[in-house]
Amino acid sequence: MTEISSHSVRYQSGGPHHSFMRKAVLLDRDKTLNADPGYLNDPDKVELLPGVVQGLSKLQAAGYMFMVLTNQSGVGRGLISPEQLYAVNRRLLELLQRDHIRIERIYFCPHVDADDCHCRKPGPGMVDAALNEFQLDPAHCWLVGDRLRDLACGEHRGVPGILIGDEEGPEERWRPSAPETLKHHVANLSEAADRILQV
Ligand SMILES: [Mg+2]
Ligand SMILES: [Zn+2]
Repeated sequence: MTEISSHSVRYQSGGPHHSFMRKAVLLDRDKTLNADPGYLNDPDKVELLPGVVQGLSKLQAAGYMFMVLTNQSGVGRGLISPEQLYAVNRRLLELLQRDHIRIERIYFCPHVDADDCHCRKPGPGMVDAALNEFQLDPAHCWLVGDRLRDLACGEHRGVPGILIGDEEGPEERWRPSAPETLKHHVANLSEAADRILQV
């Protein structure tokens, strides 16, 4: 009797074979998924970056869900209307759907620094919203973005992060301010996917 119940407890404690484990990659938008001319407000200018379709396809095949977390201070500055923001987001989803990639949700922060909001990265609001809404275990999630603040926003929940591209410049410059959860620095999303899938 004791033996059986101890087995059952150990099995239910999770691990890689747990059938209800939800895995997600929380993605930045600009310069992570799409090229960014600066305050992107035209859906016709949305272009996926190299490695994005490959990377997301590999991750999706391995059971990862995707949410996008994006700072859009251009809305707060009056440079992007809410309608333009939605049109750009719709276009992004459409381009990804062509390759059968599904994004569950796009969270955005329309504020500027002076608003002192909870959601603007590196603030924790959008990570908390995604983890709570989809009932995700932070240890089974990743953050991927081109700025350290894209990763720092999940440090309080221990979400591991991957920095992509060269937006943050040379490593020696950003190292002192890098979040503890930063695990890798790679060139693009395809390489980020390879790092995630090695784990
Ligand atoms: Mg970005
Ligand atoms: Zn905000």
